[in-house]
Amino acid sequence: MTHDLDLRAARLLDGRVVDVEVRDGTIARIAPAGTTPIGRGDGTASAAAGIRTVEADGRLLTPAFVDGHLHLDKVHSLPRLGPEALELYTADAMGGAAAAIDVARAVKRDYHRSWIAPNVRRVLESSVAHGVLRFQAFVDVDTTGGLEGLHGVLDALRGFGDVLDVRIVAFPQDGVVRDPGAAELVEEALRLGADVVGGIPWIEHSDRDAQRHVDWACGLAAATGRRVAMLVDDAGDPALRTVEMLALAMLDHGLVGRGVACHARAVGTWAEPSQRRLAALARDAGLGFVADPQTGPLRLPVELFDRLGVPVALGQDDVEDAYYPFGRHSMLEVAFLAAHALGWLSDARQLRLFDLISTRAADVLGMDPGAIVEGGRADLLLHPFERPVDVLAHHAAPGLVVSRGRVVATTTTTTVLDVPPRPEESA
Ligand SMILES: [Zn+2]
Repeated sequence: MTHDLDLRAARLLDGRVVDVEVRDGTIARIAPAGTTPIGRGDGTASAAAGIRTVEADGRLLTPAFVDGHLHLDKVHSLPRLGPEALELYTADAMGGAAAAIDVARAVKRDYHRSWIAPNVRRVLESSVAHGVLRFQAFVDVDTTGGLEGLHGVLDALRGFGDVLDVRIVAFPQDGVVRDPGAAELVEEALRLGADVVGGIPWIEHSDRDAQRHVDWACGLAAATGRRVAMLVDDAGDPALRTVEMLALAMLDHGLVGRGVACHARAVGTWAEPSQRRLAALARDAGLGFVADPQTGPLRLPVELFDRLGVPVALGQDDVEDAYYPFGRHSMLEVAFLAAHALGWLSDARQLRLFDLISTRAADVLGMDPGAIVEGGRADLLLHPFERPVDVLAHHAAPGLVVSRGRVVATTTTTTVLDVPPRPEESA
């Protein structure tokens, strides 16, 4: 049975309205709308060949979305905790962020795959519905929760392999110097199926320990041929500089272009000359960044870094966990919130937001960009509106989600109004 598709008259982000032929999971042909030769894609012939034709009627077609950073094992765990961590994390300009992590650890005392997997599954289904088909998932690996988070995530992911591309980061949330035994658990997690060596150097108790943490992670990544992804400098403290340690260690360990820095909120408190110096170092090291301006009051200087050519992605970060009560793994929702936080309101900025949740985000993660080009993988979203501004404003689930050429989600919404008729109708 074929899953091939003809999308007719779809609008691309560059404004072109095109017909798109999807064959065997690949974008086989893109042509100006209405120029498809008779006998090809005209509905009748397509139907005879078992090809599904979708009339896009000028609605927006974008690449599938990419999320640079999500704490996947902790999703929907907030109801198991009190609100204390949530309040600590964002209070006092993030002065209590480290204390929040200590409070949030309570949830891991009864960490078990049996309740983690259903929560994760709920988010994976929402990911598919919202067209977030590729993402980097942080999974806590520490001596409190052990490997239960990883097992929960691996259990939930079973069956999603043909639809989602999930890169799992083995993340020692409580540090590796502070939490003896965590480093060995990270190595075990890599053997069990995690892809990326994680780290959180800023949580250690001194700069010396942070440096040991970074060197351990980059050394392990280099020795095992993995990438590295770290949560860096996540507090309102301009003295934090572990992001710099990460970039330098990538250079030292031969990991150029193979690392991602998440959060990095403290960079937002630095003077601009220091920010520019970090941007130059990050370009040298091929270090990409993921910002999640919706989950904390401080943020990476996204606009400056983007302007200076440093790869930046947006991330969902949290879905109803100890640090953030909302989220449904919709990158359009994240982009909508980022538009406000960053002041990215113009048409040009809106278009850039689409890049930061798709092609540019893939670049940060070292994945194929997923652009809509002939020969590209057919991971496509057909949205319910023509204009990018409406797609962002409503941040609704796409009408059609195509993963590797196959329709994996459709969403329709119907509203029935009972309002007074227009004057001309009542006359
Ligand atoms: Zn995070």
